[in-house]
Amino acid sequence: MLAAGLGVGAGLAHGGSGDSAGQTRDSYEESAKRLPVRKFDVIVAGAGTGGVVAAIAAARQGARTALVEVKGYPGGTVTEGGTALHSFYNLWRAIPGVEKRQVVKGIPQEIIDRLIKVGGCSGHAEMTQGYNYDSVCTAIDTELYKLTAFEMLAEAGVFVYVNTLLTGAIMDGQCIRGVIVESRSGREAFLAQSFVDCTAYGDLSAHAGARYTEPNDYAVCNSVGIGNVDIDKYHAFLEANQVSGQLAKGLRSGQPDRIVRAGAEWINVPGMAEAARTIGMGMITTTVHDNYLMFIKCNLKLPVSPTNRDEVAKAELEIRRRMAKAVEIFRKYVPGCEKAFMARTSPSLCIRRGRLIECDYDITLADVLEARHFDDEVMVYGFHDSAPRYQVKNGSTYGIPYRALCVKGIENLYACGMMITSNHDAHMSTRNTVCCMGQGQGAGTAAALCAERKLGSRDLKYTQLRGALTKAGVYFDT
Ligand SMILES: Cc1cc2nc3c(=O)[nH]c(=O)nc-3n(C[C@H](O)[C@H](O)[C@H](O)COP(=O)(O)OP(=O)(O)OC[C@H]3O[C@@H](n4cnc5c(N)ncnc54)[C@H](O)[C@@H]3O)c2cc1C
Repeated sequence: MLAAGLGVGAGLAHGGSGDSAGQTRDSYEESAKRLPVRKFDVIVAGAGTGGVVAAIAAARQGARTALVEVKGYPGGTVTEGGTALHSFYNLWRAIPGVEKRQVVKGIPQEIIDRLIKVGGCSGHAEMTQGYNYDSVCTAIDTELYKLTAFEMLAEAGVFVYVNTLLTGAIMDGQCIRGVIVESRSGREAFLAQSFVDCTAYGDLSAHAGARYTEPNDYAVCNSVGIGNVDIDKYHAFLEANQVSGQLAKGLRSGQPDRIVRAGAEWINVPGMAEAARTIGMGMITTTVHDNYLMFIKCNLKLPVSPTNRDEVAKAELEIRRRMAKAVEIFRKYVPGCEKAFMARTSPSLCIRRGRLIECDYDITLADVLEARHFDDEVMVYGFHDSAPRYQVKNGSTYGIPYRALCVKGIENLYACGMMITSNHDAHMSTRNTVCCMGQGQGAGTAAALCAERKLGSRDLKYTQLRGALTKAGVYFDT
């Protein structure tokens, strides 16, 4: 017998006397409905940073894979929030004597290779200033990233369902049998053997009845792309005001050795400093085009978790005001930006954490800082977003264990991306784009292997997973 999860047919009434149509004063009971069914081996929820890689990995293992995405394109927060992809490398530049190593490869690196070919990436541009933070800056063209990801998904044979919201889970005890999705084509049931939750909000896990909390420990933040500007003049402006911090040179508008990352931790220009502070504006930007500041961030702290629709609606308005204000500030204060305009905005509020999903293992800050490795790891990683305050020991790496992706209490569900890792300072490492991508490759590969063998996630032999990941080009330290 299949039982409905939280999101399906809950129909809870909150007081008042019901009438024959199942209505009360403040609730309405939906009637049951027969849904069309589609069958897959693996379903990945959310075509974002981790989800794209998870779906490609699963499909390449031979699994019939569905990817469900509410927006009209794949990409997620890597195309909407972040300034650069942190980080494919260890922190070799910060620590004398440490060997330079690329520690994330596999599908994430394939995406970069494809982007470079179409002029959509700076390459792994070495940081020449601020390298205590990261050794390289990998900046992307957000629009070409979406297209490249879409094409790679199609080439891998993934069934990509964009403009489709996942709204429920079909449960059989602790096992997910399927998900409910909604689109303009109607409400449907997608069935599969294995599931990967890459929704950032943990929607699938919550529908499946997984345990979660909502820490609300970050500001939400949108980024605005500012067009008709001059990044060299922006850098000169930071230098003139003696605040120039991070700097990297790489591929820009097809030319090598151009500034692709410039920034200051703070600004000291009277008027500008106060205006920037009022709208939570950051001064670090990246670009791969001559006349474009690709990411200027505007932060806003919500009083409650970003799963609260009504608070988010208020924030969407406020943050749009802030993004418009950010462009005004650049026009007013920064030479070369007098005719700047808003060229791109995040389509909806970007979050750094929504639901925190409880998994079999919770990565600790000591795991990250002490560069700990595990006997079931799916990837290694060497970046910390609070560097130099927190760094992975000796410019080394730590491992992401497989069990950190297995959702506690559910037999066939993985979570990856920003939904894992409870400790805020450890999360400041695991939530970064390249780590989310690597987790996606681990979870998608595991889901496909489990589906093929009809196994629950805890029955998969690690040697099989490790073999498949190694064959697919994933880097391991040992
Ligand atoms: C403002 C900001 C700046 C950042 N800066 C950097 C940076 O400079 N460098 C860096 O490395 N990291 C940065 N990060 C962190 C990093 O970008 C994110 O943590 C990471 O991209 C999250 O990836 P994810 O796969 O967990 O989620 P996402 O990439 O957000 O993917 C989730 C996807 O699921 C979809 N989805 C959600 N719910 C549903 C549903 N019910 N049905 C269907 N689809 C659904 C969403 O539309 C989205 O496409 C930043 C984050 C933010 C917010």
